[in-house]
Amino acid sequence: MPVIDETHDPDLASWVASANRHRDFPIQNLPFGVFSVGGAPRGGVAIGDQILDLAAAAQSVLLEGDAKDAARAGAGPELNALLALPAARRRALRRRLSSLLAQGAPEQAEVERWLHPASACALHLPARIGDYTDFYAGIHHALNVGKQFRPDSPLLPNYKHVPIGYHGRASSVRPSGAPVRRPSGQTMPPGATAPLFGPSQRLDIELELGVWIGAGNALGAPIAIDEADDHIAGLCLLNDWSARDLQAWEYQPLGPFLAKNFMTTVSPWIVTAEALAPFRIAQPPRPDGDPRPLPYLWNDADQAKGAYALDLEVAITTEAMRRDGHAPHRLANGPASNLYWTLAQLVAHHTSGGCNLNPGDLLGTGTISAPDISGVGSLLELTRGGQAPITLPSGEVRTFLLNGDEIILAGRAVADGFVSIGFGACEGRIEG
Ligand code: MN
Repeated sequence: MPVIDETHDPDLASWVASANRHRDFPIQNLPFGVFSVGGAPRGGVAIGDQILDLAAAAQSVLLEGDAKDAARAGAGPELNALLALPAARRRALRRRLSSLLAQGAPEQAEVERWLHPASACALHLPARIGDYTDFYAGIHHALNVGKQFRPDSPLLPNYKHVPIGYHGRASSVRPSGAPVRRPSGQTMPPGATAPLFGPSQRLDIELELGVWIGAGNALGAPIAIDEADDHIAGLCLLNDWSARDLQAWEYQPLGPFLAKNFMTTVSPWIVTAEALAPFRIAQPPRPDGDPRPLPYLWNDADQAKGAYALDLEVAITTEAMRRDGHAPHRLANGPASNLYWTLAQLVAHHTSGGCNLNPGDLLGTGTISAPDISGVGSLLELTRGGQAPITLPSGEVRTFLLNGDEIILAGRAVADGFVSIGFGACEGRIEG
């Protein structure tokens, strides 16, 4: 499990002035991503409102040993090679960059030449995603949605024994800011006698965490629960855009298909497991009467520190709101601890039959909803299946998303005695 070290020191400040008290990227964060500024995409590290160029750092004599190896692995247009490295080398690079960026560092003049203003850079997906899997680990979401479909038995009997998931579509994952095209598809409207084909009328969001896989496992060699944490390189925010009308008609018997494969938006920075070390908390105990998971899913250390103290938020703007100068309107706010399974349990379960994960694979947790309506992670829940429209500050009402609507996910790690870190933007605007 990642350790707390000098890179998390709350008194640590940076000579990059914008980093100090930065909402997302203070010196205590140092997330990895891929950016371009004129030339070819390459690896970078966010620090305040700047991006540190890993390709430039990799050529410098200021880095050596494990830190240099890691910078070289992160110098290309995809970070898969960096993710594949043992965590110790990522940690060496983190420690060295932390020291070079710290206030008073004698190397400041040289390191300044590695920086680019983030506002001048384009951000790309941080890795080539070989496979993307989406889980259903948000138990309150599963309950809320289940109640709409099965009021008497909202949770199916397997839910508390087996982490439910499906294999998603990697080709349509996009970084924050990429336009979201409203999908057309087949639906069976209530009362209709034959299906229709046309634009989705029930376009929704799903607030999720994304998990970037680090070192992989060989086919046929499951990752044990007590080793699963070592395979998690970092986290991001993930919006699993969902067409509910397509989903309702197509999902039985094999689960989501076209309702979710048209687009998935992620925040483009990998907030590393190392950066998140101070924000590890106990997995909330299972309610009395819930079954204890099978041994391959149970580890005392994982239960003690397997959850994350993250505050998550969903906000919306519409064309009219932006035109009239309204701030984004918060739709929901809640903690990431509303997951029934830990991330290590998801990894252990995914590989338990021998399935191999690869560096740069992406897992989604499933929609994270709080028990009450102020913290639900989808419009399906917030508007009770479209029965209870919400009113926005502009006076407009919404059940599901209209063209021009923009959804903004935000996430922040918070712990007493530590500097908060965030994920950066995870935004997408609906186009017709
Ligand atoms: Mn989902």
